[in-house]
Amino acid sequence: MTPLKIGFIGLGNMGAPMASNLAAAGHSVTGFDVAGTTAKDVTVAADISGTVRDADVVITMLPNGSILRQVAAQAFTDMQEGALFIDCSTVDVESARNTAEAAEKAELLAVDAPVSGGIGGAAGGTLTFMAGGTVDGFAKASPLFEIMGQKAVHCGEAGAGQAAKICNNMILGATMIATCEAFALADKLGLERQKMFDVVSTSSGYSWSMNAYCPAPGVGPTSPADNDYTPGFAAELMLKDLGLSQQAAEAANADTPMGALALALYRQFVEDEDGKGRDFSAMLPRLAARNRES
Ligand code: NAD
Repeated sequence: MTPLKIGFIGLGNMGAPMASNLAAAGHSVTGFDVAGTTAKDVTVAADISGTVRDADVVITMLPNGSILRQVAAQAFTDMQEGALFIDCSTVDVESARNTAEAAEKAELLAVDAPVSGGIGGAAGGTLTFMAGGTVDGFAKASPLFEIMGQKAVHCGEAGAGQAAKICNNMILGATMIATCEAFALADKLGLERQKMFDVVSTSSGYSWSMNAYCPAPGVGPTSPADNDYTPGFAAELMLKDLGLSQQAAEAANADTPMGALALALYRQFVEDEDGKGRDFSAMLPRLAARNRES
């Protein structure tokens, strides 16, 4: 592929390794982060303007939708006509659609492309991209997805990538809680956790939470539970994604009672208890330590 000029905004835990992987693949990458962070093989610019002015493609990896809107507004005044804007952050569907509309007005291509795979996937170039936007935008972004990830799905129009991401993570949050509370019940019934895993992982209660990311230490494949619940996928990131899914459910008038309850439990865990900084599967010791009345 012809080397591209890429501007990368947001060199945090995810953005820095993603930008480095693009540079390692031969692209010319200029990066910017308000915190002054850098990334291997990436030239650092002084501001957003200097990051995007000559770029063929601009990629953002930012904390939330309001920051995305601010950054995109600044970037769009300086990007060259016909350039591609790819937002890989996890944001609300409304901000993704709003950003795509603003890009269209500025005669730019735009794709929302949140990821799953976490920091390990970002470093290893094995992320999954869920993309929303035009066919042209997705086609132009695809070779870059191939460098940063192992799979990219074009989910539909602008916002469809974010929609897929929050629906997936709403299932994940609810199934992790269901798996953890079943282990906690099994404990109280005197059923060994290993036996519980042996049965459920090959029965109709199986799920990714049980089979690939088992929340019980020493049971199933190696997971954050085996590392004292060091993330992994932090409980506060699950809280963020569950908040986005409830925000979207409200806007779309969708009835999502399990998602709402999962949000309430992760909020309590992160904001009122000791969940912050722990893996989201630490819901198991939390539930196992409680009684029915508590
Ligand atoms: P992070 O906080 O490490 O990185 C975000 C970076 O954006 C920070 O370095 C921050 O300084 C920078 N930033 C903030 N405002 C800025 C601005 N105006 N201009 C330039 N830079 C700015 O977060 P992260 O873990 O890298 O996550 C980034 C996004 O990816 C989030 O939306 C998150 O939900 C999503 N995500 C994270 C994971 C994960 O495991 N960490 C997994 C999937 C998706």
